[in-house]
Amino acid sequence: MQGLVVLGATGSIGRNTLDVVRRNPERLRVLGLSAQRDVAGLHAQCVEFRPRHAVLADAAAAAELRERLRADGIDTRVGDGAEALAELAAHDEADQVMSAIVGAAGLLPTLAAVRAGKRVLIANKEPLVMGGPLLLAEARRCGATLIPIDSEHNAIFQCLPPGSRCGEAPSGVRRLILTASGGPFRQTPVGDLDHVTPQQAVRHPNWVMGPKISVDSATMMNKGLELIEASVLYALPDERLDVVIHPQSTVHSVVEYVDGSMLAQLGESDMRVPIAHALAWPQRWTSGVGGLDLGRLGSLQFEAPDLQRFPCLGLAREALRGGDALPNVLNAANEIAVEAFLNGRLRFTGIATLIEKTLDQALGGAPPDGGDLASILAIDAWARARAGELLNA
Ligand code: NAD
Ligand code: MG
Repeated sequence: MQGLVVLGATGSIGRNTLDVVRRNPERLRVLGLSAQRDVAGLHAQCVEFRPRHAVLADAAAAAELRERLRADGIDTRVGDGAEALAELAAHDEADQVMSAIVGAAGLLPTLAAVRAGKRVLIANKEPLVMGGPLLLAEARRCGATLIPIDSEHNAIFQCLPPGSRCGEAPSGVRRLILTASGGPFRQTPVGDLDHVTPQQAVRHPNWVMGPKISVDSATMMNKGLELIEASVLYALPDERLDVVIHPQSTVHSVVEYVDGSMLAQLGESDMRVPIAHALAWPQRWTSGVGGLDLGRLGSLQFEAPDLQRFPCLGLAREALRGGDALPNVLNAANEIAVEAFLNGRLRFTGIATLIEKTLDQALGGAPPDGGDLASILAIDAWARARAGELLNA
């Protein structure tokens, strides 16, 4: 029986993780669950899974959850705030930690899990973009194991030679090819993109996900963040990482070897597949998802991405190439831009413009990236402030 902590339990990845747990009750015991302020969602999960600990980032929400659990006679201990979250991520009895908070908010708890030497299943890609080298170096130093949950990176992990470890360049690999669905606006006339709404942007054709990553998929910044994530996890430079649009989301990514072999992982567009893979690795457990009926699939399409339509993808590549503070600045500006778009304060096409302007300012004056936590947080704060000013200008 392994102890599992789920950070971001009430979100899309969190709920899919608990569904896999539900199907493997003899293997996993839920030790702790966390969320930001969704009292009803976390309460229902506490009633079902009876974790020892629950943490809500918001103190008022935590007080309400405490009260409700007391009334139910459930003895889950409820904490609140950043410190309680980091403690939960590093809990002595946790064997595995699912990192599934959205955005930069996941950096500190993910780092805490890594520093405690846990097996960390990493869905929360933004911390890898902000401070990938630090997370990988700390994992090495503290004996933590990172297993990617992002479907592309998990697919790659499954196709790499046995013994490959995150943070080390895999042997015999020439190129990694990330597949991308192209999102809801793959065929929208480019001139109409100025006027698309948040409701249209979050309606992804193949995946059901949280609002932030859904907007990232619509701009293809998601694939841009994933290029940086792949570069960190597989220690490969930008020129050995490719993106191809594959509207069916059936092939989840491809590893090209030096001998010309190309290995791909295929499956339904259901995050329970990579989640179950990572929880079970190196074994295999049931996920609740069946295989594909290849005879009924028909044809699969692949096409090169159009950078005119998806400028965010180009910006992410530039940030990856430029290195230093740029990936972190890109991520922070994107978080500000996506939030503004979801709140109706910025047009869809304004997302890329705001990020580009923030990156331009960074070339002249961002704090340098010393690779330590303090400088990662300083760059993030600097970029959020600049993007906020640009938004209000
Ligand atoms: P979501 O919005 O559905 O859920 C986010 C979770 O994090 C919720 O439980 C929320 O309460 C919690 N949270 C949000 N802000 C917080 C804060 N400030 N402090 C503490 N907790 C906070 O998001 P999601 O779609 O599940 O995505 C989670 C992460 O996984 C993201 O980084 C995303 O890019 C990545 N990811 C998601 C998918 C997917 O299919 N949803 C696929 C690949 C990668
Ligand atoms: Mg992905």
